[in-house]
Amino acid sequence: MSKDVKGIAASDGIGIAPAYLLIDPDLSYDKDKKVEDTDAEYARVEKAFNDSIDELQKIKENAKGRLGDEELEVFDAHIAILSDPEMLGQIKDDINNNKTSAEAAVDKVTTNFADMLAAMTDNKYMQERAADVKDVAKRAMSHLLGKQLPNIAGIDKPVVIVAKEITPSDTSQMDAKFVKGIVTDLGGRTSHAAIMSRTLRIPAVVGSENITENAQNGQNVIVDGLHGDIIVDPSDDQIKDYQAKADAFEKERAEWAKLVDAPSVSKDGKHFEIAANIGTPDDVDDAMKQGADGVGLFRSEFLYMGSDHMPTEDEQFEAYKKAIVGMKGKPVVVRTLDIGGDKPLDYMPLPDEMNPFLGYRAIRICLDRPEIFKTQLRALIRASEFGPLSIMFPMIGTLAELRQAKKIFAECKDELQKDHPGLGDDIKLGMMIEVPLAAINADKMAAEVDFFSIGTNDLIQYNFAADRGNDAVSYLYQPLNPAFLGLINHVIAAAHRHGTKAAMCGEMAGDELALPLLMGMGLDEYSMSASSILRSRSMMKDLDTKDCAKLSEKAMELDTNEEVADLVKKELNLD
Ligand code: PEP
Ligand code: MG
Repeated sequence: MSKDVKGIAASDGIGIAPAYLLIDPDLSYDKDKKVEDTDAEYARVEKAFNDSIDELQKIKENAKGRLGDEELEVFDAHIAILSDPEMLGQIKDDINNNKTSAEAAVDKVTTNFADMLAAMTDNKYMQERAADVKDVAKRAMSHLLGKQLPNIAGIDKPVVIVAKEITPSDTSQMDAKFVKGIVTDLGGRTSHAAIMSRTLRIPAVVGSENITENAQNGQNVIVDGLHGDIIVDPSDDQIKDYQAKADAFEKERAEWAKLVDAPSVSKDGKHFEIAANIGTPDDVDDAMKQGADGVGLFRSEFLYMGSDHMPTEDEQFEAYKKAIVGMKGKPVVVRTLDIGGDKPLDYMPLPDEMNPFLGYRAIRICLDRPEIFKTQLRALIRASEFGPLSIMFPMIGTLAELRQAKKIFAECKDELQKDHPGLGDDIKLGMMIEVPLAAINADKMAAEVDFFSIGTNDLIQYNFAADRGNDAVSYLYQPLNPAFLGLINHVIAAAHRHGTKAAMCGEMAGDELALPLLMGMGLDEYSMSASSILRSRSMMKDLDTKDCAKLSEKAMELDTNEEVADLVKKELNLD
């Protein structure tokens, strides 16, 4: 009887193979043991740590070629943990003061470190680093106890790895060609398991909570990394069904991959841009790997949210520079700080509000607190020296807000140009279209900016008066509603009347049903999550813009979102 387990879809694709449970050896030890010779006991710790460092260096060496720089840096991070004087000092003190064994001291001190990180619930990044400390501790304990950790490197036939959590050293040791899937109890989309599986293109479902209790070694497992489904001990029919889906997906992906260096162009030769949405400069690697034509939305608030203090001008400058340099001459659009609403900042408490999405957020805060805004604008202007940069303002509703934001930008530029004539003169300035009034007033707005970027996530929530985070009203997320399409069409046409570029960076830009309609309206740039870029480019090359224009005209005359969806599906031959 098959068992279905649900988790978080972390890496695309479908894998089917027998389970390989990553079970650690028994690392228990005598907790009551007391030692006499504390120096000798601490020497055991040093030896175990040094052996662990040697082992990690070997694993890193083996993994070179298979993993990129960013992944390899994880081993350095582990080695750094093993060399941390603070941690070693605490272990030594514990042995000296309490006469505890090396095992007990290492266990206690590393557990404290990991618990401290895990408790940082408001800092997901630091929280997920707790897994690194535990990984390092496990390795050191195995050396102290003379036991071997599971040997992933020895896997030489197809398997699905089933684990509580996958560590970077696990993923680096395995030969990816034998690993058909990864499923874990723990972890989220930003855990190492998820990031590594995406890099290695292994289908993965993480955070299933209890897959290790539901699968046994050798039992067949299906991993559906597209939908977050795991099936343990599937029937023959289920295997056949998923095998067909897996083959179809792989075929499609191989086709898309051929387009990584191709231009984003329609069947009739019209050029567009397909760009990536990123949250941190580290995301640039993936954007480049997926063939992004640029970054269409750098959500700069993640820099602020990932920090425990207001990022300084220099810290921000380094981050923007890294993204710009990483894109190697391709354009980067940075959106200025968009906090408030669903994005709080711990170190900058905002007033409690009845309707935070309609309240003190984004550009409204920046105009009210120009010192915060100016720090960011100065960092951006300085970073513009390193490549093509555009800046856009979120949540602009009125012309007055836009003019005020531009005025502050000009002041920052004037100040910086005193020492650096011409600095920032090439920066393009744009605004997001997320507030209904700005969309309605698009003609006047377009005359004052270089580009628009339509933020459909918010533009839909405000037009339909439906909180984007509230499941009870999620049926009102209707990007294909004909009246809404009419508004989008108006915004794009208004932009073009003024020679202003029209881009979109909300989820709608990567929606396959919306693509032909937006191409028909003449949208210039589509910015989306990096993983959707090649699929969109592939669809685009089969679409003729004249047919798309007719299709979008027809769509706007219909009555409902569903009617438009049906019309597009019929046109694209989708089921
Ligand atoms: C949007 O509102 O569509 C958008 C891209 O911004 P965010 O999702 O960050 O609010
Ligand atoms: Mg928005």
